[in-house]
Amino acid sequence: MTTSRTYLDWNASAPLLPEARAAMIAALDSVGNPSSVHAEGRAVRRIVERARDEVAELCGGQTSDVVFTSGATEANATVLAAGWDVILSAAIEHDSVRAAVVRSGARCIDLPVRRDGVVDAEAAGTLLREKTGARRALLTLQLANNETGAIQPVRELAVIARENGIAVHSDATQAMGRMPVAMVDLSVDYLTFSAHKLGGPKGAGALVLGSGAWFAPMIAGGGQEQRRRAGTENVAAIAGFGAACKAAAASLREDVPARIGAARDALQRCVVVGRPGTAVLCADTPRIPSTVLIAMPGQRSETLVAALDLEGFAVSAGAACSSGKVAASHVLAAMGVADEIAGGAVRVSLGATTTADEIEAFAAAWARVTTRVRQAA
Ligand code: PMP
Repeated sequence: MTTSRTYLDWNASAPLLPEARAAMIAALDSVGNPSSVHAEGRAVRRIVERARDEVAELCGGQTSDVVFTSGATEANATVLAAGWDVILSAAIEHDSVRAAVVRSGARCIDLPVRRDGVVDAEAAGTLLREKTGARRALLTLQLANNETGAIQPVRELAVIARENGIAVHSDATQAMGRMPVAMVDLSVDYLTFSAHKLGGPKGAGALVLGSGAWFAPMIAGGGQEQRRRAGTENVAAIAGFGAACKAAAASLREDVPARIGAARDALQRCVVVGRPGTAVLCADTPRIPSTVLIAMPGQRSETLVAALDLEGFAVSAGAACSSGKVAASHVLAAMGVADEIAGGAVRVSLGATTTADEIEAFAAAWARVTTRVRQAA
């Protein structure tokens, strides 16, 4: 067993950026409620509003249309609970979307998913063009998948949806900071994401509204967030979120995601060379640069994750949210991946500080672990 640790689970949660930490610590010492009119209150309000600017800047939204929430789960739930008659969505969505679709009581239309992990745009386009007959219909489509990293045809389908009077939501949680995102280009009415996937704190997120988007608050009470989300703002977390968005915008300008993508591709090559038989899922699909999903057919994901943990590597068996209760990945099932491969899938996700040495060490550990597990079987 080793004591050195290598964190390769950035899609579950990215390490807190120093900029975010500094902004949070400064905000923690600010006295007052941002809704108060006195000087202290106004000073805290300025912290929240600066963060709102930074969040809007990263996603190309309007500052006044950013609604702070406790994370992407709440932001997704808010959009999906807004009173839709029909919701079109795919089985590869995150559980926070899937559960909210079921709970919404809307009629659900399933969008087909191809074997490469991407929603079938042609078939989905046909479904969008068929009149849903509903007064209020919504297309919800993630920008990038949390397990495979596959980038979805949001813009293409959003254009068709809008032509047919269907509103559009995109859960951009895994895409923010990992690829350029501009709400207007995407043509979406609602964009949702979490702070902690891009170097901000856990427990903060945003719902950004497009111009004229229909909205119904999920949490009523005080008049915060222009009556769109009641409750005293989590000022420190919001400050950290804003600082992380600002840093993410700078790293996009510096092309950091391309560097991460090159590291990811190197990792992908190393694991296959070091351990022939390793399957790389969605290898030819356009993906966010952080992500690679590998599998050793016939072996169990949870066994591999536990063995890699003992070797000092933090990785995940599919979605982190579900890895406590290890169940077959609904994403891989929707893609039609054979059980033998899906059952042995391990998600490795990296970020800006991942080094070439860590990648090499991981590939060696993968070779050791998959050989050992096979021998033990
Ligand atoms: N959507 C996607 C695509 C995600 O990856 C996650 C986090 N795993 C969420 C939504 C939910 O984010 P949070 O847990 O921060 O609310």
